Amino acid sequence: MSSFKTVAILANPLAGQGNGRATAEALQTSLPAAGVGVTVIFDAPAAANAEVLAAADAVIAIGGDGTLRAAASRCLEVRGNIPPLLLIPMGTANLMGRYLGIHWLPEELAQRAIESLRNGRIVMLDAARANGKLFFVMAGIGIDAQIIHEMDRIRSGPIKYASYVVPAALALAKYRYVPLEVIVDGQTIFASAPAMAFIANISEYGTGFPVAPDARPDDGLLDVCIVPIVSLVEGVRQFFHAAAGEHILGEGVVYARGKEIEIRSAKPLPVQIDGDSAGYTPTRIDLLPIRVPFIVPV
Ligand SMILES: [Mg+2]
Repeated sequence: MSSFKTVAILANPLAGQGNGRATAEALQTSLPAAGVGVTVIFDAPAAANAEVLAAADAVIAIGGDGTLRAAASRCLEVRGNIPPLLLIPMGTANLMGRYLGIHWLPEELAQRAIESLRNGRIVMLDAARANGKLFFVMAGIGIDAQIIHEMDRIRSGPIKYASYVVPAALALAKYRYVPLEVIVDGQTIFASAPAMAFIANISEYGTGFPVAPDARPDDGLLDVCIVPIVSLVEGVRQFFHAAAGEHILGEGVVYARGKEIEIRSAKPLPVQIDGDSAGYTPTRIDLLPIRVPFIVPV
């Protein structure tokens, strides 16, 4: 813990059925007792006190992948870098938490966070941006993004996996198979066919099937996987192949790696980043020029 004198906590108080608030408050008490200064900011990264984040030796994000992205983005904005991040995962999918191997019980969150600050190791991971919005795991353009956009449109409370069913049906009904053009580091690698495109920093995804099984968050490159779709039936077939990790062998699939990816389409197609909606094509996805330090529990 000696290396972290001052910690900022960015917490979504509603995450984990209110555990977000309880955990932040527990740390607000226990960290000073361990000699660490702490400031808690509840769910207001946009308005978060810039001086607090500028002075922090480490930032704890309590919530889902969205809270993590907001915390990291805000640090980048106010200080031009990102201090070591400790994630206390409390969302639905928790893509980054799963990648980092953080599986904590609700009652042990505060204690495990303190142990991680004290003894955790730091890994430096790549991150990326889609139209300037930071993400850590992956961006998707296609049906998956349409489902997430539909979910955003109709949801009225915390997401449960069952909530995906209705948006998925709506997305499949309304999805338009618009041809995509994909340019990687200035080179057109795919043009003029309807497709789903995935830009992966980390292979782990949503339900756990590897869309880009070879993606590594420490190689300074983004993995690009483009799966052509000729019809809805084909799309569903491809989806199940993806679930089996087989789609990269599918006919017409294009796989590439690069630092700057541009995706264009004749009509706007939905984009998702780390399971949250992120606008529409055209989109430019680029590797963040700096790596992000994550604290990994021992
Ligand atoms: Mg990579």
